[in-house]
Amino acid sequence: MSAEYIKLPGLIDPHVHLREPGATHKEDFETGTMAAIAGGFTTVLDMPNNPEPTISPESLQRKITLAGNRVYCDIGFHFGATAKGVEYFEQVKGEVFGLKVYMNHTTGTLLMEDKEELNRVFAGWPREKPIIVHAEGETLVTAIALARLNNRRLHVAHVATKEDVEMVREAKEKGLPVTCEVTPHHLFLTEADVQALGPFGIMKPSLKTETDRLALWGNLKLGVIDMIATDHAPHTKEEKLSEKPPFGVPGLETSLPLLLTAVAEDKLTLDQVVDLTSTNPRKIFGIGELTETFTEVDLKESYIIDAKNLKTKCAWTPFEGKRVTGRILRVVLRGEIVFDGGNVIGNPRGNVVYPG
Ligand SMILES: [Zn+2]
Repeated sequence: MSAEYIKLPGLIDPHVHLREPGATHKEDFETGTMAAIAGGFTTVLDMPNNPEPTISPESLQRKITLAGNRVYCDIGFHFGATAKGVEYFEQVKGEVFGLKVYMNHTTGTLLMEDKEELNRVFAGWPREKPIIVHAEGETLVTAIALARLNNRRLHVAHVATKEDVEMVREAKEKGLPVTCEVTPHHLFLTEADVQALGPFGIMKPSLKTETDRLALWGNLKLGVIDMIATDHAPHTKEEKLSEKPPFGVPGLETSLPLLLTAVAEDKLTLDQVVDLTSTNPRKIFGIGELTETFTEVDLKESYIIDAKNLKTKCAWTPFEGKRVTGRILRVVLRGEIVFDGGNVIGNPRGNVVYPG
């Protein structure tokens, strides 16, 4: 088989749930960042909806301390919005990349539905930093209206439907400072896959129709979608097989192989992959450049995704058994090899990072 080696800038995932503190039986900073480098990522941004949510300067500090010298790639954090938390915004703004506002039901206790409170949150967040929303359908209409009213930067997490991506496109066409991300599972799976996947295909937003999926691809190629975010949300197999399976799937180790497969199939260009996984998230979230940091891949190698090779603690993937073209060979972080030949190399060399 022929090989074609190329170097990509170290990838950035702006949306992961590494589960620490509070749910380290699912994932922790060590296993989560091992999964990240195995997936070609050199920077990840962690979400605030832990059992002990990241909604105060103290809880943020605790997370930063916990991550300390235990991370294999760089990690930064987002802050969670609550009505009470507005008073902390000024204090934490230099330490977080964005404010996450949960406007639809999902994992955790951070749901905000009261319009008055939402307006105070939007008005209180510093203008120069993105407000990341989980908002679908009608709530996305509200989110865009609040961003416009308060002249704030809005980043729409995991856009999943044709209607929602078109709403983002319209907002952009009107010149509003709105950006968005899409997950690999919404690009590569549909509701038809839930039959076979069962609880392992359940997440928020849920998998949608083929029409939705094609609309995401169309807007990805047009540049309406700014970045890929895995929304890496591991749960144990036992939890997924329980009476009430929790929402979420892991994604750090399968995202780049799936995107490279799309390149092999002429659905994306390599330049687009670089924009979606590095250039745009760096620009939108203000993530500093890293020197001598790259991910080396073989664009030609074809193989089958097998959960037993994964580093994530949950040890399963909704893409089990899928053939992909494009293997991650090596990851170099600040001049040091951190991943090579399927193995994590050396001690944790990642840093906790802050907006530049
Ligand atoms: Zn998420």
